[in-house]
Amino acid sequence: MELDEVNTITVLGAGNMGHGIAEVAALAGYDVNLRDINDELVEDGYDKIEWSLNKLAEKEAITQEAADAAIDRVTPLVDLEVAVQNTDFVIEAIVERMDIKKDVWGQVDEHAPDHAVFATNTSSLSISEIATATDRQDKFCGMHFFNPPVRMELVEVISGAETSEETLAITEDLAESMDKTPVRVRKDVPGFIVNRILVPLMNEAAWLVHDDVATIEEVDSTTKFDIGLPMGSFELADYVGIDVGYHVLDYMHDELGDRYEPCPLMTEKVEAEEFGQKSGKGFYDYEDGDGADIPMDETNAEVKERLLAVLANEVAYLIGDDVASADEIDEAVKLGGRWPKGPAKMTDEYGLNKLLSTLESAHEESGHPRYEPFDSFESFVDEGFHGKAGDADEGEVEFDTIELSYPSEKVAHVELNRPQQMNSISLELIEELDAVLDLLEENDDVRGILLSGVGDKAFSAGADFMSIAGGGADPLGAVELSKFGQETFGRLESIEMPVVAAIDGYCLGGGMELATCADLRIATTRSKFGQPEFKLGLLPGWGGTQRLQRIVGMGRAKEIIFTCDHFDAERMEEFGFVNEVVEPGEFDEAALDLASKLAGGPPIAMRYTKRAMQKGWDDTDAGLEIESQAFGHVVGTDDVHEGINAFFGDGEPEFEGK
Ligand code: NAD
Repeated sequence: MELDEVNTITVLGAGNMGHGIAEVAALAGYDVNLRDINDELVEDGYDKIEWSLNKLAEKEAITQEAADAAIDRVTPLVDLEVAVQNTDFVIEAIVERMDIKKDVWGQVDEHAPDHAVFATNTSSLSISEIATATDRQDKFCGMHFFNPPVRMELVEVISGAETSEETLAITEDLAESMDKTPVRVRKDVPGFIVNRILVPLMNEAAWLVHDDVATIEEVDSTTKFDIGLPMGSFELADYVGIDVGYHVLDYMHDELGDRYEPCPLMTEKVEAEEFGQKSGKGFYDYEDGDGADIPMDETNAEVKERLLAVLANEVAYLIGDDVASADEIDEAVKLGGRWPKGPAKMTDEYGLNKLLSTLESAHEESGHPRYEPFDSFESFVDEGFHGKAGDADEGEVEFDTIELSYPSEKVAHVELNRPQQMNSISLELIEELDAVLDLLEENDDVRGILLSGVGDKAFSAGADFMSIAGGGADPLGAVELSKFGQETFGRLESIEMPVVAAIDGYCLGGGMELATCADLRIATTRSKFGQPEFKLGLLPGWGGTQRLQRIVGMGRAKEIIFTCDHFDAERMEEFGFVNEVVEPGEFDEAALDLASKLAGGPPIAMRYTKRAMQKGWDDTDAGLEIESQAFGHVVGTDDVHEGINAFFGDGEPEFEGK
């Protein structure tokens, strides 16, 4: 079956996940049968979908018509036979119990048409075993959405023992059609990818406290402010529910043995029903205390090393057992766990050989099986995979916070790549932008730069205060940080090729200051602009007090900075800040077209024009001098001959920059 033959999707279970999956499917244009065991439950799920769709429309993420059309596509049902008899694809999100799942799937198999594909959203149970309840194990796979499905982009697509390639491919296509990013999990292993990484990490954090290696505050301080994860380990456990993590861990323990023995600290919390935020108390106290108030300065090198060592071991296992590749693991954890960097990359950078030694010493010291290195970890290190700290690839330039690609012959596409952080600007990002511009300046083939943000939420929502707090907490550090940003962003103004900023979503604060340095700006109708620094008692520190007024005039610049308001793209077009406003569907193509058009211009004339305009801003005479000198220089170039010939010959000029 091909994706275009999928018209009707049945979602079994209208609970937390089921209603969210049904909403996502309806938004993607599918007819959805939503089924639960009684009218009240299914109506409750239906109402939640309606509420959520209306919220999306209120926030202008979708139109009200799209919301109304989506809810019209959902049919609430209780009769299982009716729910599946004309369906093309069944996604099951019922209670996490093997016996109940098998019972339901047996009935579904009986009544669903032969061509229908089956997928379970189980978080932990064996896909292969659930599939045995049906006579179509080849058409059965895992389709693991993350909570909440409307917001989380990742879907793990898991192969059971008998799943066919065709089933995996159509499930991935289906996930993509729902605007999700599928990551394939080639084997049905407990925890799949994301939980296989996150849950042992949570457990290790607890063991470190249990074994008196560190306090909860030290572990969380290290996780958040040294390793750089979005939350501390205990903070995360409290946020998702200690019982939820414990449940997956307990299952892994049953299936895989004592390596995954839940730390007594977790077991005690679950037994005391202190589950975290939802029960008011977990590792932190949310009712009588301050909740997770994590100190920035209690990081601990031993904690970091142990946590990374456990991570590296799990990553090596997943790669070695052919469950997923390093890139797939990183993509899944970045999207599913909102990590800024994937665990494979993170542990690689630390040095795999160092982490293997850490694991071996900890194993010797404690004797606990969780520190036993997997065979694959040992053999990777034996074979010389030591990561960046050992023998990194020579000559290959890779960036963590920037994606660099070359979408057309002359255009370099520089993408701010911190989508989980709304592409906020960290120190690392500024450093990498600086390095990227070095590269592009040296590359004679590149004639234009397209600058945008990964994802559809933000070009950049501003400075990442967390990551730069270290450099900016003291006044002198802040001056340096401001200068470094001003200079690096300013390189876009002085670089001798056109720069187009392509803005989709939020373009705020430092993000707007960066966009201000581009030569032209194109934006989607849904973009929002603003300089909200005053709200924090700050001021724009990356050139905003000077550069914005050059483009929009002092009056408008003051309006933008003083009010801290958000301005939409049309308004910014009226101000002269945005050159072109397009619908989101046309954005990628229009942005690349504009960058390509400018990159096709005469390079020498472009270089001097930018230089003359820049210099002449403060000093018109200096600008005019550059202009006349440049004019004399350009007149004799091959490009001018080419331009004139093309003009008379009615063709398009091919400028060589000579
Ligand atoms: P939930 O308890 O919110 O919803 C489960 C729903 O299934 C309930 O409405 C229940 O009435 C219904 N149900 C029970 N028995 C049924 C039956 N025989 N036939 C049809 N419906 C039945 O649970 P949830 O959190 O939505 O989890 C559902 C599935 O999704 C589980 O397999 C879980 O592991 C998985 N999952 C959960 C999350 C999460 O964060 N909650 C994330 C990913 C996957």
